[in-house]
Amino acid sequence: MRIVSSIRDMQRIADDARGSGTRIGLVPTMGFLHPGHMSLLDAIRNDCGLLVLSIFVNPTQFGPTEDFDRYPRDLERDLAMAREHGADIVFTPAAEDMYPPRHQTSVLVEGVSAPLEGEFRPGHFRGVATIVAKFFNIVKPHIAVFGQKDAQQAAVLRRMTSDLNFDVDIVIAPIVREPDGLAMSSRNTYLRPEDRTEARAIYRGLMLAASAVAAGQDAPAAVRALALEEITRTGAIVVEYLRVVDAETFEDVGDILPGARVLIATAVRIGATRLIDNMILQG
Ligand code: AMP
Repeated sequence: MRIVSSIRDMQRIADDARGSGTRIGLVPTMGFLHPGHMSLLDAIRNDCGLLVLSIFVNPTQFGPTEDFDRYPRDLERDLAMAREHGADIVFTPAAEDMYPPRHQTSVLVEGVSAPLEGEFRPGHFRGVATIVAKFFNIVKPHIAVFGQKDAQQAAVLRRMTSDLNFDVDIVIAPIVREPDGLAMSSRNTYLRPEDRTEARAIYRGLMLAASAVAAGQDAPAAVRALALEEITRTGAIVVEYLRVVDAETFEDVGDILPGARVLIATAVRIGATRLIDNMILQG
């Protein structure tokens, strides 16, 4: 496994791979790796000859009052996990190289970026789309994989890839959860033990919603109410949003029509920690 920090070196490696007909796969992450990230490597390992994992805590996707400074970092541990899971290259660029002082360009995906996370984290998806576009130009992947854990991000990046004609196959990998249902996240490390126990209610709530839809409930308000009641039952969790939305546009849906792709997505706060999760209800 090679560790590459220079953008130029990464581009030369990518050119050489493409020149020799090797398919390049990209797994972009912010590090502090967990089995959810590893599942992304597993998802495309057999579809590429050069598997690149990027680790970069991207400052432009954090708001001014968010957790950029305290976001968990452990490069040594990450490198060991990446090696164990068959990454060929770990790309770890420096922020000052990714965003030199005179940079002025960003990528704005409209529409799908606006609701949910877009409302609560203004500018977040602009930062995400910009960094992923840059990675596409540096790593030059044939295939890239993102997690359903960040469902709206995946939809935004699909839109961007299509709209800007990036010649990259996008794969979305399912959510990896802890045994009690909590979606794995680097931010789970912020949870105090009592928060961690309360956090189980997120999965329970989403499951109630999914079961109701499976049993024939087609009214989004009723589905949402079931989840909301479970998630807020003890008062430990504050819901930022909890919405039943179209899985592509992230617009609210009317009745859940047969065949429509619909998911329930939420962002909550437990103590000082903000977590997101979602579940596919249909489609
Ligand atoms: P992050 O390091 O949080 O930016 O995540 C990097 C990639 O891993 C994103 O595509 C995430 O959606 C994905 N990811 C994070 N957590 C999970 C999880 N629990 N299951 C599946 N994918 C995940």
